[in-house]
Amino acid sequence: MFATKLRCLRCGKEYPLLIKYNCSKCKGILDVEYDYEAMKKKEIGSHLSIRKDKGMWKFRDFLPIRNKESIVTLREGDTPLFRCERLGALMNLRNFYLKDETRNPTGSFKDRPVSCAISKAKEEGKNTVITSSSGNAGVAVASYAAKAAMKAVILVPSTTPRNKLLSILCSGGILIKIKGTTSDCFNLTAELSRKYEWANLTSTFLNPFATEGDKTIAYELYLELGGAPDWIVVPIG
Ligand SMILES: [Zn+2]
Repeated sequence: MFATKLRCLRCGKEYPLLIKYNCSKCKGILDVEYDYEAMKKKEIGSHLSIRKDKGMWKFRDFLPIRNKESIVTLREGDTPLFRCERLGALMNLRNFYLKDETRNPTGSFKDRPVSCAISKAKEEGKNTVITSSSGNAGVAVASYAAKAAMKAVILVPSTTPRNKLLSILCSGGILIKIKGTTSDCFNLTAELSRKYEWANLTSTFLNPFATEGDKTIAYELYLELGGAPDWIVVPIG
């Protein structure tokens, strides 16, 4: 594992590699730091696990989980990359690709950050996880918690689509509908996480271990294309 510590993106204060949601000094966002000098010594594609294994966790040396036994996986990652000639031609682009993240186990890219963050929660001995979600993340957290035999508490705005709510309930998640905005859910989730010491898996600017899972999309693109693409376009909500 190349991960070494957490560092505040605003003031630079460093913390040990344990679940923490913001900087105690300035409330800034925390980011996982790596030993980049050691990482540079070997080309990413030449690592044994990357050549041998499948899915997102073949990049486990580049993810911040110490013990292999802590990894909670439903075989996320390795999603197909499609070269779309006809769609590309409409935009005058010769090499236009779409990476289909709906092929992940619960149907969205959220499986990557949730797999990473819940593995860290397991490593720290947590038995309950909580998240604030407008749908996809809630489905992912409920499913991965079921796999890890943990309790999952999911807070959603009452406007969340019914099919997403059913998926959360079918996976055994404890669903709490909030009459309020996404921000209200976010704040209440943080409060419950503090009060009961549940691991908060909310990925948006909060759990630094969740966002680490997202980066594996870039590794897959690099390996499949044989280098970095000129442009990456990411839709955001
Ligand atoms: Zn700070």
